[in-house]
Amino acid sequence: MAKQSLILLALNPSPLLTLMERTLHAADFKVATAHDRASLEKFVQEAIPALMIIGEKFADQDGLSVSADILERFPTLPIIFYADQDTAGLAKFVLKAGLSGYLYSPLNEAEIVDEVQNSLKRARNLGDWLRSEVKRTTSSLAEKAKISEAERAQLEAIIANIQDGVIVMDENQVILFVNRTIRDNFNLGKAAVVGKPLKDAITNGDLHALLSRSREGSFKYHEINFDDGRVFNAQYTDIPGIGAAVTMQDISYLKELDVLRSDFIHTISHDLRSPLTAVLGYAELVERTGALNQDQREFLQLLQGSVQHITSLVNDLLDLGRLEAGFDTRREFVHLEGVLKYTLDMFDAQIKKKKLNLTTEVAGNLEAVRVNPIRIRQMIDNLVGNAIKYTPEGGGIRVSMFMQDKQTILKVADTGPGILPEDQNHVFEKFYRASNVPDNVEGSGLGLAIVKSIVDRHQGRIWVESTMGVGSTFTVLLPTQG
Ligand code: ADP
Repeated sequence: MAKQSLILLALNPSPLLTLMERTLHAADFKVATAHDRASLEKFVQEAIPALMIIGEKFADQDGLSVSADILERFPTLPIIFYADQDTAGLAKFVLKAGLSGYLYSPLNEAEIVDEVQNSLKRARNLGDWLRSEVKRTTSSLAEKAKISEAERAQLEAIIANIQDGVIVMDENQVILFVNRTIRDNFNLGKAAVVGKPLKDAITNGDLHALLSRSREGSFKYHEINFDDGRVFNAQYTDIPGIGAAVTMQDISYLKELDVLRSDFIHTISHDLRSPLTAVLGYAELVERTGALNQDQREFLQLLQGSVQHITSLVNDLLDLGRLEAGFDTRREFVHLEGVLKYTLDMFDAQIKKKKLNLTTEVAGNLEAVRVNPIRIRQMIDNLVGNAIKYTPEGGGIRVSMFMQDKQTILKVADTGPGILPEDQNHVFEKFYRASNVPDNVEGSGLGLAIVKSIVDRHQGRIWVESTMGVGSTFTVLLPTQG
C-alpha cells in the first residue's frame, strides 16, 4: 500500500484530532487539517486528498450532510465518518450515505490505521475497476466509430468512383452530393455545386426535363444526350428522409446497337418489298389464267392474306426506319381535332361492330400545332386502333384533347385488359407485345414504336397509365411549336 497518501482531516480541534494527526504521521501518511467548510472545499479541490475523515460535527455543521455534499461532486473520494459513540444505526447511516467506513470513540492507533488502509484499498480497487471499464468502453466505442467511419469512407469512395453518375439532392432539389462522373459529364470541373439548386448548377435541357417530370409522378426516367453523341439513361428516385437522387448510366453502346439493328431491319425490309409485290402480282394473275376450283380459290385467298400481312409489316418497318433516320421534316400548322375526326370516322364501323361506347371530349380553345399531318394521323390511328383492338366487346373508349401550358394533350383511355406494370415501360419498344395480349389479337408489336418515334420527332412525350382489369390510358403531349 502506497504510503505518503494525503489524508484530509475534517475534525474540530480536540484531543482526538491530535491523536489522529500523530497516528497517521507515524504511519507515514501526509496529513492536512480543515477547520472550516471553506478550507475543506479548498483542500478537496486543490490538494486532491486520497481520503477524508470527517467528524460527526464539523465546524457547526452536520458531518453526514457535508459528506453527502462532497460525494455529490467527488464520488470517488473515500470518506471515513467519525462518531463520538457507536450507535445501533451508525453503520446503516454511513453505508446509506455512500461513505467508505466509520470510526467511533474510544479509539486506538491501530484501529485508525486499519480503517484508513482498508478504505484506501477499496477506493483503489474501485478506481482501478472504473479506469479499466472506461478504457474498455472507450476503446470499443472508438472501434465502432472506426468501423462506421471506414464503412462511410468505403461507400463514399464507391459512389465517387462509380461509372454511373450520381446526384443526391434534398427535398427542394438542392444538391447535397455529386460524384466524379457527373462532374466530368457536365464539365463542372471543381465548381462548388453543393448547396445550389440542381437547375442552376447544371444547365442541361434533358436533365431539367427529368426534374419537371419527377413532379408528375409517372415519368421517372429520361435520356440525356451530350454534344459528343453519348447518351445516358437517367432515373429520378425519391429517397425518404433525404430528398431524391438522379442516377445516370451510359447507354451509348445500346443506342449504337439499336442503330445497327434498325439499319439491318431497314435493309432487309427494303429488299423484301419487291419480291412481295411480285408474289402478290402473280397471285392475282393466277386468277386470270382460267377457272379455278373452290380449293384453289381458297388457297389463293389465304396466300394473298398472308402476303398482305407481311407487306404491312414490311411497310411498318420501313416507316419506322424513315422516322428514326430523321427524314421526316415536313411541318405545317394543323388543327388536331380535325385529324382526330378523320380517325374516328374511319373506325366508326369497327366501333359499332364491337358495340364499344365511345366518348370524345375536345376542348374549344385548341391551338393549331406545327406537325407533320400524315404522321400525326398515323399516331392517332394507332392509339385509337389499339384501344378498339384490345377492348372487349361492349367496353368503353374515351378520347380527349385539351390545352395545358401551351401544349396540346391527347388522351386515349379504354376499359381493356390493362398492361402489367413491368410491361408498361416496354410497350413502346419495337416488336414488344405484352403478356396481356389475348391469343386471338393479332399484331406485330410495331404500332406503339412508330407512335413513340412520331411523338419524339415532334419533341413531344408519351406515356401509359394502366391498371390490370380496369383499362389503359395513353397520354400524348405535343408542344404547339413542335
Ligand atoms: P401490337 O401490334 O401488338 O398491338 P403495339 O406496338 O401497338 O403492338 O403495342 C404493343 C403492346 O402493347 C401490345 O402488344 C399490347 O400488349 C400492349 N397494348 C397496346 N395498346 C394497348 C391497349 N390499349 N390496351 C392493352 N394493351 C395494349
